[in-house]
Amino acid sequence: MRGRLVIKVGLLLLVLLVLTVAIVGVFVRKSVLESSEETARTVAEIVRDSLTSYMVLGVIDKRDILLEQIRSTQGLEYVRVIRGEPVVRQFGPGKESERPMDALELEVIKKGIPKSELIETKDKVLYRLVMPYKASSKGEINCMRCHQVKEGEVLGAVSIGMDLTQKRTEAMVLLGAYTLTAGGVFAFLFWILIRHFEPYRKLFEEMKSVLNSFKEGDFRKRIRISLEDEAGDLARVINSVGETLGKTLLSIREKVSMLIGYNVLETENALKDTEKIVEELVKISHFKRTIEQDMSKSDIYSRLELVLSDYMSLDKFSIYEVDEGRNRMELVTVHGEKMWCSESILENANECRAKRTGEDVDSQEFPCICPKFAHNDLCSTQGIQYYCIPVNVGGKVGNVVQIVYEKEMDMFVRMLIPYIKGYLQEASPVLESRGLMELLKQQSYIDQLTGLYNRRFLEEIADKLSAQIKRRGTTLGILMVDIDYFKKVNDQYGHDVGDRVLKEIAQTIRNTVREADYVIRFGGEEIMVLLVDVKEGKAKEVAEKIRRAVENKVIEFSGGVIKKTVSIGVSEFPKDCDGKLWQCIKFADVALYRAKEEGRNRVVRFTPDMWSGEEY
Ligand code: GH3
Ligand code: MG
Ligand code: MG
Repeated sequence: MRGRLVIKVGLLLLVLLVLTVAIVGVFVRKSVLESSEETARTVAEIVRDSLTSYMVLGVIDKRDILLEQIRSTQGLEYVRVIRGEPVVRQFGPGKESERPMDALELEVIKKGIPKSELIETKDKVLYRLVMPYKASSKGEINCMRCHQVKEGEVLGAVSIGMDLTQKRTEAMVLLGAYTLTAGGVFAFLFWILIRHFEPYRKLFEEMKSVLNSFKEGDFRKRIRISLEDEAGDLARVINSVGETLGKTLLSIREKVSMLIGYNVLETENALKDTEKIVEELVKISHFKRTIEQDMSKSDIYSRLELVLSDYMSLDKFSIYEVDEGRNRMELVTVHGEKMWCSESILENANECRAKRTGEDVDSQEFPCICPKFAHNDLCSTQGIQYYCIPVNVGGKVGNVVQIVYEKEMDMFVRMLIPYIKGYLQEASPVLESRGLMELLKQQSYIDQLTGLYNRRFLEEIADKLSAQIKRRGTTLGILMVDIDYFKKVNDQYGHDVGDRVLKEIAQTIRNTVREADYVIRFGGEEIMVLLVDVKEGKAKEVAEKIRRAVENKVIEFSGGVIKKTVSIGVSEFPKDCDGKLWQCIKFADVALYRAKEEGRNRVVRFTPDMWSGEEY
């Protein structure tokens, strides 16, 4: 910018200098010419008037003396008198020098109009003037007395040549002096102007640089102000705009950070950072709103999985859920090919370092830190890293999120950790409330005395279960178990002991069947067992196993020991009842009554002959 300013001002002043020099030059030339013309006219008039006097006095033959004297006038190159035609006619051609020499003189003699010309060469400047001498009878002297001419006829001419070489030299010197002086003045002017403009130029440079920084989102730069005029005021305004914007954006970022619970990675660009963190706020609040409307924990886990895989582009991660009551962990989500931890953490949650310590587990902080990471060999040899985040749910570690990554992704993952924690923080209270809801629901399906499922649970799962069995083409064994002579226990030992016996038998049955089987308190001391995917025809064997187990069970209580037996009715779904579950349940009940009738402590498999009634 400085270079351009110097060139512009310099050029402007140079043009001005050249222009004034040209004007002065033209003016000097004009005035020299005018004064020379004036002198030449005066000389010509003197010559004419003197010659007239010589003629009147009759001493015209002495005219050479006059001309000689006039010729000695400084600057006069020559003075000649030229005879016109009437004079040549009357008095002869005269001397050689009295004849017209060139076109200029001939023209004046012919036309009677004064003519002049300037002959300029490198070495010499000659100004020529030719003045006609016309005949006149008016005035004091009557030309017609001696000359036989008509009024106004050209008698001759006076031709004068003036040497202006000296004057030209003088004018050049003058112009040179002027140019030097003016050049000096203009140079001074140039220096003053540049000096005056310099602070403005600097200020504008600074404004440009600072505004460019603002545009790039950097509001820390300020303009250094050295001017106290309007330009300085403008710079002050720009500075205060930068300060206000910078502070406002920072406060937005701080407030949003507080709100979402983490900071985004700050760059030099405050605009972009603010945009990013607000975008983050929008995303996270959208996420929060969405999960708040999710009904179950599994929906929330799927949503989290989507955030981690799609939004954060992570390809290997797992989400574990801690079952605090049973001190177990469940693998809720695994993204990528395998479960990266040892299975032992599922059996004993405290084996998981993140769950046990409640702190982040970072394999970078201490190489391959967790012995329960099942692939520490890959960690030490192939640079596979892991980062496990415990999630606080209701004051305890409710979940653990594990991220597995290649060492090259370290920076990227580290940048993501605060974001992931932000999302987990939002998900945590919703997970807690959904967990409680699920627990509540689960408890409403549990019988308080025996810990078995209740009848409501059976109603809840009946349709789903029968559909699954049909779809899989397997068999559901239905056992209806009733304690024999239970009333007696109550009568003999009281209700509390009766409760106790009921509980123990329920537990015995539970322990006899598989985990996947359902044991349901169907009513009073009647217990239903649903054997999922039992081999066709084998339900009766399981029933027999239960019967024996109960028979062998010795129930101790403060007053002694009790041994009880059970009767069991068996049916198989869907074969026995044409795919109608509730009918099969009824048939199991029918078989149970047959067992009671046949003397109790036995298993009776339902056969169609036992049922003569209409369709259930
Ligand atoms: P059986 O089945 O062999 O014909 O004889 P039973 O004595 O068991 O007869 P029934 O099945 O009709 O009697 C059920 C009795 O079980 C009635 C009730 O007093 C008792 N009972 C039912 N639910 C409970 C319970 O929750 N606690 C206790 N203590 N007793 C219960
Ligand atoms: Mg009974
Ligand atoms: Mg009963």
